[in-house]
Amino acid sequence: MNLTTYLRAGYPGLALITSEEARAEAEVSAACNSLKRSLHAWSSTEGLVDTKEGRVTACPDPLDALQLLDGMFASTSPRHVVLMRDLQLHMEQTDPMLVRRLKDTLRIAKTNGHALILLGCRLKLPPELDHEITHVDFTLPGPTELGAVLDGIVKSAKLKNVHEVVRESALQSALGLTTTEAENAFALSVVETRGIDHKVIAREKARTLKKNGLIEVVEATTSLEDIGGLGLLKEWLQRRSGAFSESAKTYGLPAPKGLLIVGIPGTGKSLTAKATAGAFGLPLLRLDMGCVFGGIVGQSEANLRSVIQTAEAIAPCVLWIDEIEKGFSGSSSSGSTDGGTSSRVFGSFLSWMQEKTKAVFVVATANDVSKLPPEFLRKGRFDEMFFVDLPDALERAQIWDIVIARHKRKPTDFDTVVLARACEQFTGAEIEAVFIDAMHEAYAEGKEPGAKEILEAMTHTVPLAQLMDSKIAALRQWSKGRAREAASRSTTTATTTGSRPSRRMSEMN
Ligand code: ATP
Repeated sequence: MNLTTYLRAGYPGLALITSEEARAEAEVSAACNSLKRSLHAWSSTEGLVDTKEGRVTACPDPLDALQLLDGMFASTSPRHVVLMRDLQLHMEQTDPMLVRRLKDTLRIAKTNGHALILLGCRLKLPPELDHEITHVDFTLPGPTELGAVLDGIVKSAKLKNVHEVVRESALQSALGLTTTEAENAFALSVVETRGIDHKVIAREKARTLKKNGLIEVVEATTSLEDIGGLGLLKEWLQRRSGAFSESAKTYGLPAPKGLLIVGIPGTGKSLTAKATAGAFGLPLLRLDMGCVFGGIVGQSEANLRSVIQTAEAIAPCVLWIDEIEKGFSGSSSSGSTDGGTSSRVFGSFLSWMQEKTKAVFVVATANDVSKLPPEFLRKGRFDEMFFVDLPDALERAQIWDIVIARHKRKPTDFDTVVLARACEQFTGAEIEAVFIDAMHEAYAEGKEPGAKEILEAMTHTVPLAQLMDSKIAALRQWSKGRAREAASRSTTTATTTGSRPSRRMSEMN
């Protein structure tokens, strides 16, 4: 629902949570114009301003301001909308007088058809006010709004002939930024290239999101072919790779929601998240769930909202949440430890997962399922849950092929069957670490790495699986009946879509 609808429906207390103050104020002003309501704006520095008449009443104290509003709201006509900036900052140390005064003002506003809108970049209300104020989602600007910003920059820089294709890709690259951030990125592109270059804008977006600290844009250069083994998981992804297309939409296919991948560390879960974006041809965003839980009161909820807004503005996209259990593990006990913040954020995240309509495909990875709240694992949140076990001999041979090729050597120069047999219980990450170790040894001796260096490096590695034997057994036990196996263990050619099977695969059976 948008702001106009809420105002028309007679909601007396609304909250717009955004850092885009100017754009939010413009939207409030447009809503008031369309509904023919008078608009007043208050801040502790400017006082109460009648935006039409320009009349200013000095009242830095919010209590005085609310008292003034009670007088204005006493009659039903004209109908007023009052925008209050930063009121929430005055509420952080709950002041009983202010809480009561705001409740009284809202009651009068409701009776006589007026509205109060709180504006700020976060909002933490005392419980007494939680049900009195409705949060209105303020989404990030879409292509039309960003287009107006871009046109402004093009005009002021006196650029000629910006081709429609260039304009489109610039706008696409800017999605997920606020208007001010997009304006800066467009301006930078003009300074750097004397034109509009989507690569500069994409780079600026990546930098801006990283600086904001919650979401990172990851370059998706990985494909399903870069994953050894995990045949069933790759096939599942391959079959859904067209599900975000226009033709899938026309067909009536609902956009897939997401995937939870649980398993042993180093077995390729993160690699799969990256390859998913590659296979789907979508941008990849990485979310650090730990950073969502900010220190300031109300910050965690605002952070999650900001993450969702960014991902939805960039949609269709893949949102990768690495080690999700680290973010949500406190949610069940949090009532007593963090004032309920984790469970509230967790609840909001689950509702979003369940109800999201935008094409944001979530790939969540987890090593320790015991820390995940059970609600998380219920059907309907994710399309599927996969369990990634240690690679078997066949998969290890595939991983050797991939790792050797990744380090610019020819897999056919190595007997990957022998190597695979020699590294039982190794994860993909450990196989790669062994190869890098062997390369260092060989380089120091001025030669190419061979079986000798690799087998030697293996002897120095104690696989994690040996150290966490009981944990892995518990994870396997847990996954039975709950999660699908990611690997296709029964066939020789592990996948039709995945990595090239070694020419020596048949030897392994
Ligand atoms: P963690 O849970 O510790 O984050 P993970 O399961 O996400 O581990 P990755 O980060 O995906 O593991 O793997 C680390 C690296 O190991 C990868 O970047 C890749 O180089 C290599 N690797 C792991 N598994 C595979 C695999 N199945 N195929 C190819 N390479 C692999």
